[in-house]
Amino acid sequence: MTFYNHCHVFPHGAFPDAPELGTLPELDLFMKDNGVDKAVAFAPFWGPRTREILDGEEINAWLLRNLEPYPNIVGAMAVNPTDPKACEIVEEYHRKGFIGIKTHPAAMRFQIDDPACDDFYACAAELGLFVLFHTGVHGWVLSKYQPLLIDNVVCRHPNVTVIIEHMGTSDGIGRGFFDQALAVITNHSNRWRTDGGVYAGLTGLAKPQHRQLLADTIAQAGPERCIFGLDWPHMEGNARARDRYRMELDVLRSLRLPQAAEDTILGGALSALTGVQ
Ligand SMILES: [Zn+2]
Repeated sequence: MTFYNHCHVFPHGAFPDAPELGTLPELDLFMKDNGVDKAVAFAPFWGPRTREILDGEEINAWLLRNLEPYPNIVGAMAVNPTDPKACEIVEEYHRKGFIGIKTHPAAMRFQIDDPACDDFYACAAELGLFVLFHTGVHGWVLSKYQPLLIDNVVCRHPNVTVIIEHMGTSDGIGRGFFDQALAVITNHSNRWRTDGGVYAGLTGLAKPQHRQLLADTIAQAGPERCIFGLDWPHMEGNARARDRYRMELDVLRSLRLPQAAEDTILGGALSALTGVQ
């Protein structure tokens, strides 16, 4: 089964020049066209007109309400850990079936290891929800969102499950914070602990120029701690998304991993982590 993380969905018209872009019907179509069995959709925490179109509706409420016709798409919340209502939101949407939490420290303007986030991490750990961090250089104070800080979080909350998304790289350009991300992966790998909850998010990493970074990540984390994501639609529509997806599969396959390892990376690990079959 292919089960991919990291699909951005938006209300129709969030991007005025391409109103279909990133809508749930388009994601459903993309999955059918490309043989994707299941995918995780993120609540729309950005998009030029998202806020205006939602007109006050909470972003996670919007996603939940619109997911109903799509049994193969599961929801993940978008939550700012410093939101005074963060734990309340996490508990509510966990109850309603969402399987994890997307965070974007640079865009949401929170420092990864800010003690003000501790209640949020404790709450996610208790409920068994993954906390995904967008990592990579993204135009804010670098010291506040360097991936090394994720290690502080995991040391304070050993039971929390985290996904270090993009492995510290940014849009395929440069290594960014890759070495920090890999250090955190290694520090919580099977070498030191058998119950490690630190996962490598491979979204955007399987590019020709990052082939070695991809290989190093899989070697350090092990396939069972690697999660592939689409970053769909990002941002040019389904034809470009398909081309990018096929290119990424080619890069992954060029590593010539055993079939079982590839299957784990392309869905088995995410399935085991979330319980979604
Ligand atoms: Zn993304």
